[in-house]
Amino acid sequence: MFIILTGTPGTGKTTVAKTLASRGYDTVTVEELAREHNCLEEVDGELEVDVDKLAKAVSQPEKDTILEGHLAHFMPGRMNIILRCHPETIRKRLEERGYDSEKVQENVEAEAIDLILSESTQKCLFVFEIDATELSPENIVDSIERIMNGEIDDYSPGKVDWSMAVMEWY
Ligand code: ADP
Ligand code: MG
Repeated sequence: MFIILTGTPGTGKTTVAKTLASRGYDTVTVEELAREHNCLEEVDGELEVDVDKLAKAVSQPEKDTILEGHLAHFMPGRMNIILRCHPETIRKRLEERGYDSEKVQENVEAEAIDLILSESTQKCLFVFEIDATELSPENIVDSIERIMNGEIDDYSPGKVDWSMAVMEWY
């Protein structure tokens, strides 16, 4: 089945998926899956994934496969792992990526208000969060392996709390 690896852009999903692949896990991105199932559409000159169509089109792989992307939690899977990152770290990473200020702010705020967590819990019973702010990719993968092995106590949803970071904005 799919193991969903989601998170706000900049939290480190793609980096972590590469580390998972180097440990022998099968990985796929939402975009790759969307291309395979003809679920990419052009909106305002940009390719967008039709998540509803894709969620209906995908079939679960026999082997556990990491499905990575900031829309991955809209896909069905065995469990849902969310990478979290301090909003100011996200801001720095997305500025370095060259996103415009509006897109940076949108994503910083999405992280701050737990947007992906709330979307995830509406779709999936088994949701976990990893605060990846201070962790290396190897350490994040160690955490993911613990979750997959059922050692979930440190990763229950709701433990990550950026409200203090938000208070500093005012
Ligand atoms: P995402 O796929 O979630 O958008 P990326 O994997 O592309 O995130 O990572 C965003 C940026 O953060 C990249 O510049 C990457 O090198 C850096 N990065 C990713 N993971 C870590 C980490 N664990 N520690 C420090 N920097 C990281
Ligand atoms: Mg990525």
